[in-house]
Amino acid sequence: MKEFELIKRYFSEQMIKRKDVVLGIGDDCAIVTPSERQNIAITTDTLVAGVHFPHETSARAIGHKSIAVNLSDLAAMGAEPTWISLAITLPEVDVKWVEEFCKGAFELCEFYNVQLIGGDTTQGPLSITLTAQGLVPHNTHLKRSGAKAGDWIYVTGEIGDAALALKHIFKEVNVAPEYRESVQRSLDFPTPRILAGQALRGYASSAIDLSDGLIADLGHICTASKVGANIVLDDLPISNALRDTVGLDKAYEMTLAGGDDYELLFTVSEDNKVGMETALANTSNTITCIGQINGSEKITTTLNSKPVSIHANSFEHFSGTKT
Ligand code: ADP
Ligand code: MG
Repeated sequence: MKEFELIKRYFSEQMIKRKDVVLGIGDDCAIVTPSERQNIAITTDTLVAGVHFPHETSARAIGHKSIAVNLSDLAAMGAEPTWISLAITLPEVDVKWVEEFCKGAFELCEFYNVQLIGGDTTQGPLSITLTAQGLVPHNTHLKRSGAKAGDWIYVTGEIGDAALALKHIFKEVNVAPEYRESVQRSLDFPTPRILAGQALRGYASSAIDLSDGLIADLGHICTASKVGANIVLDDLPISNALRDTVGLDKAYEMTLAGGDDYELLFTVSEDNKVGMETALANTSNTITCIGQINGSEKITTTLNSKPVSIHANSFEHFSGTKT
C-alpha cells in the first residue's frame, strides 16, 4: 500500500467534522477559523519507540497515548482541544497496526470532539509527533507562574501507578495479578484531565500536567512562580496496588519521582478553595490536597508532621535517553 492510500484509507476516515475546520486533510495546509475572543493554545509532543514507550506496547495504546499526552498539555492550560496534526514515521506499512493505532487515537478524539486536520507520513524507525491545538477564552489560560506562598497544592486522580507498571515490565517488582490490568492501563491509557483543566480557569493560581514526576513538575511551578513548597506525604493519593506492591515508604518515593501520570497539579489560594472544589465537583475528577506553597524557594516533605528527606530523582523515561 502506498503512502497516499494509507492516508486516505485510515487517517482521513475520522468521524469528527468540526464546523470551524474550513479545509481538513487533502490539501497542502489545513484551514481553520478560530472563534472571536478566544486564544489558541498550541503544543507538540513526540513519542519515540523504545524511549517513550516500550517496543512491545500495543498499537492501540500507542495511538491513545500519543493523543492523551498532547491533550494533557492543553488541559494544563485550561484549553478546550479542537484540532490535531499527526506526523508519523512507520518502519513498514502494517495495515493491522495502523488500524489499531487509529482506533486508539480516534476514540479519544471522538470523545473530546477533536479533528485530525493534517499531518505527514514517512518511513523509518517508529516515531509519532503530534501537534494539538485548543481554544481558551481570551486571557483566561492557566500558567506555571502565579503560585503564591500560602496557596494549597492539589493533584487530580492517583499518582505512581504508571511508574509501577514500568517497574513490573522490567521485572523490578511483581504486581499481583488482581492489580495488573489497572496498573498497565494507567501507563498505556492515561486520561487527559480536560474538563478539570477548564473548570480550574478563574480558580487555580498555577497549573501543570504531571509527565516527568511530581517533584520535577512541582519544581517547574516553583521556579516559574519563584516560590517553594511542602508536600505532606501522608496525604499523597496512592493506589492500593502501589502500596501493596512496594510498601508505603517506597510508594511515597515512586509517587514523587514517578512520571507518565498525566494528572494535573495545581495551586489554589485559600479564598478560591471552595469555588474550585465546587467547579471540580461538576467534573468526574477526584482531587487531593497534598501540601502548601511557601516562600522558601525549596521543596520539602513532611510525614506525621515531621520533616523527612526523600530520594526522588526526577523520572527519566525508562531507557534514560529522553531529551
Ligand atoms: P504534502 O506533500 O503537501 O506534504 P502529503 O502527501 O504529505 O502532502 O499529505 C497529503 C495530505 O494528507 C495533506 O493534507 C496532509 O496534511 C495529510 N496527511 C499526511 N499524513 C497524514 C497523517 N499521518 N495524518 C493526517 N493527515 C495526514
Ligand atoms: Mg507531506
